[in-house]
Amino acid sequence: MAEQLKRQPWLVRTHYRLRAASFAMLFVATALHLTEQGEPASVLLPAFLLLLVYPQAQYWRASRSADPIQTELQSLLLDSFLLGIFVAALAFPLWISFAAMLGTLTNNAANKGWRGARNALAALGCGAVLEMAFGGFHFSPQTGLPATAFCILGLTGYLLAMNHIGFSRNAQLRHTRKTLQLREQELLLANDRLSQHLGEIDILQEQLREQAVRDPLTNLYNRRYLDSTLERELSRCKRDGQALSLMMIDVDHFKNFNDHYGHLAGDEALKGVAYSLQASAKRASDLAARYGGEEFTWVLADTDGPTAMRLAEEFRLAISALNIAHEHSLHGRLTVSIGIATVSTTAYRTVTALTRAADESLYRAKHGGRNQVRLAPMVPRRSGLGNRIPANFVPLVWHEAHECGDATIDGQHQQLFRDANNILAAMMEAKPREAVALLFATLIRNATEHFDAEEDILVSTDYPGAVLHAAIHRELAEHADYLLGRYTAVESDGIELFQFLAHDLVARHMLGADRAFFDHLQQGACLPARRLAA
Ligand code: GH3
Ligand code: MG
Ligand code: MG
Repeated sequence: MAEQLKRQPWLVRTHYRLRAASFAMLFVATALHLTEQGEPASVLLPAFLLLLVYPQAQYWRASRSADPIQTELQSLLLDSFLLGIFVAALAFPLWISFAAMLGTLTNNAANKGWRGARNALAALGCGAVLEMAFGGFHFSPQTGLPATAFCILGLTGYLLAMNHIGFSRNAQLRHTRKTLQLREQELLLANDRLSQHLGEIDILQEQLREQAVRDPLTNLYNRRYLDSTLERELSRCKRDGQALSLMMIDVDHFKNFNDHYGHLAGDEALKGVAYSLQASAKRASDLAARYGGEEFTWVLADTDGPTAMRLAEEFRLAISALNIAHEHSLHGRLTVSIGIATVSTTAYRTVTALTRAADESLYRAKHGGRNQVRLAPMVPRRSGLGNRIPANFVPLVWHEAHECGDATIDGQHQQLFRDANNILAAMMEAKPREAVALLFATLIRNATEHFDAEEDILVSTDYPGAVLHAAIHRELAEHADYLLGRYTAVESDGIELFQFLAHDLVARHMLGADRAFFDHLQQGACLPARRLAA
């Protein structure tokens, strides 16, 4: 019972105790009064039922109710009503009636204020009237001394108990309020800490997001970010009718750099290149990324080919101006080669096509002697034979300025010009593939012989870049063989082979890379017997 009581709400618990105690005292007072009146013991039975059994029944009802507090408040009125019947049945003994009335009114007023007291009085009256209606009006107010004294004592105890309950309830409320204030302060502090943590988490998340798209060595955007952004940028530029240029940048002879200066110096050099790239790509729409290894990408929105060419050239010069020593480079310093492709209304309209075109341009820059910029043709190659030869394919014209002064080299260079022009003419006339293939093979054979002769001269005149120059020759020859293989296997239409031979191998290499040793020869380092003038 005690356990079950603890589980009930405070109001139900307190009322149960008050009701049980006060009704028990009323029962004793009634028993004393009836005994005084000489009534038989059997008369006590209704009083016993009301005053001792009823409080238990009420508690039982409240504890099983879905809303025990509401049930208990209703019971207060029932108490008043039943006490009204009770005192009327006893013929209104003054002290017993007074004690019962005061008890029930106080109880109702304590819970519901004046309205509660008024309702209790009405219920009490109703109970009394009902009893008088059935049992008739009897009025016998006297109570003997024992019953009176007991009523006074019981009433005093009851009122003290009520006051004590009020006081402890108040103390409890004050304590609860204080605890709540403390909890509220703790909650505010916890809330502050939580907001602080959330802020830190936001910053960390931002840092994580940033780290996920950055290359740790150079702090440029990484390949993942480039892949996800380029597609979007390309679509946007196409939609807005804007140009978009893509630059592929590759550090020249970087493997040799690492081998010679060490990997750490290589890392520092890459950081230097990245820093310069970041400084060059300064528009908000520019995207500078590390493509991988010693390759970088620069995406330029709303930038046409010529502008990209100019910017690339500036960047190439900026890297050269860093003056990072590179013993294994023709130029004695670190350089980059750059390939560019630009989206136009007719060409390179997908990320794949654009990247491939920029890659091919880079490849041509490499084979043209490195440290240079190449732009992919603006007009895409078409499949019809008549349109296959691009407009910029024109016969090569020999010029005196092309001469280095060595008869063998100059003679071979002129021969290679003629070979290239023969091929162009054959292609313009749409000669059979076998005939054009023969002309290609002739040019490659002459070029190889020329490379051998040139390398001999460079070695015999102690040209410092001889080894490197020979390596460039090997690469050119290997790529020419590869492209010729594709042409004879009918895997290509000859345009790429012609472009490579005539422009990369003959014109660019001879007039570009070879120029580096022209001065050397002309300064008299070559064997006098070989001199044209001799
Ligand atoms: P090319 O002029 O034809 O581009 O020649 P290359 O030697 O630069 O090209 P290759 O692809 O043969 O070599 C690239 C080198 O770049 C190989 C690798 O050791 C180096 N490399 C790639 N990533 C890093 C890096 O993060 N740090 C350093 N130090 N070196 C790197
Ligand atoms: Mg590379
Ligand atoms: Mg490289």
